[in-house]
Amino acid sequence: MTKRTDTRAIMVKDLQIGHQNKIIIQSMCNTKTSDIEATVNQILALEKAGCQLVRLAVVSIDEAKAISEIKKRVHIPLVADIHYDYRIAIECIHQGIDKIRLNPGNIGSKENVRKVVEECKKYHIPIRIGINSGSLEKVIHDKYGKPTAQGMIESAQRHVDILEELDFHDIALSFKSSDVNLCIETYELASKTFPYPLHLGVTEAGTLFTSSIKSSAALSVLLHQGIGDTIRISVNGDPVQEIMIAKQLLKCLHLIDHVPNLIACPMCGRTSYDIESVIKEIEPFLMNINADITVAIMGCAVNGPGEARHADIAIAGGKDEGLLIKKGQIIEKLPTEKMVDRLKEEILKMTADQ
Ligand code: SF4
Repeated sequence: MTKRTDTRAIMVKDLQIGHQNKIIIQSMCNTKTSDIEATVNQILALEKAGCQLVRLAVVSIDEAKAISEIKKRVHIPLVADIHYDYRIAIECIHQGIDKIRLNPGNIGSKENVRKVVEECKKYHIPIRIGINSGSLEKVIHDKYGKPTAQGMIESAQRHVDILEELDFHDIALSFKSSDVNLCIETYELASKTFPYPLHLGVTEAGTLFTSSIKSSAALSVLLHQGIGDTIRISVNGDPVQEIMIAKQLLKCLHLIDHVPNLIACPMCGRTSYDIESVIKEIEPFLMNINADITVAIMGCAVNGPGEARHADIAIAGGKDEGLLIKKGQIIEKLPTEKMVDRLKEEILKMTADQ
């Protein structure tokens, strides 16, 4: 496995991010934080899917006051996303938030920053500085003429300097862009420039389809080099989808253990049963299994058993009869219509102790 780039660890409640810790999967609620019921329900769904850290947009003091009630009803640490108003940050800290996302250069005077930093130090709250290519400072944009990796690093350096001058080092950094190449270049440069943990993500990545492609394209290049300590896949829609993509991405790169790996043959002229329906049933079933298991669904009994021999459990279907294959050995012949139920049964049995 690729050696991870070492970064300075930060604690977010009881979660350590950075250093050589496993990569943390995070997401963001798309509910109004003031709607406590909806926010709690969404966080609980995210937790169930495997989310380890969740961010909430907090746009007012009233919304900040909802944090303590939300925290009582969920289990994973919460991050408050704050823009411009330092008083909201302070209220969130007093309400028990675990981490803050805020750019210190955007909250007014040094005195405001100092007040936030003092509270963060007192309550052991880290700060993520989030640089977005679309909202670079005018002076940097003018200098480079367009968003560039150097410009984004320069912008981050300004915010980092403010915190370091106050002797604050519990920092995480993100550099988001909707441009995959720019994302890769910026994070590569950031990992050489800063000692702090990096939060990876492609912003405005779009739908489940486009985000899966853009996020995987950018993040796999970085993660393969050992860059990145926490990831967020941005998807328009239900954030639980973000967790599903994140888990599969980390699984492909061997950076997570307890996630199933699904192999399915692409089909060809030999396919003699409705394999597509089988895959559509097994894929969501596997999303609720937290185990390291490789499952293969093959379209025929001619090549299927051979092609599935590295899977822990597989089915290879025929027109009327299919095969159940465990660790490369055929263990059962069964009617095609019973294959899915038997496969599920076997998966549950094999993963019961994991
Ligand atoms: Fe074709 Fe069979 Fe291979 Fe699937 S497993 S691609 S059906 S030969």
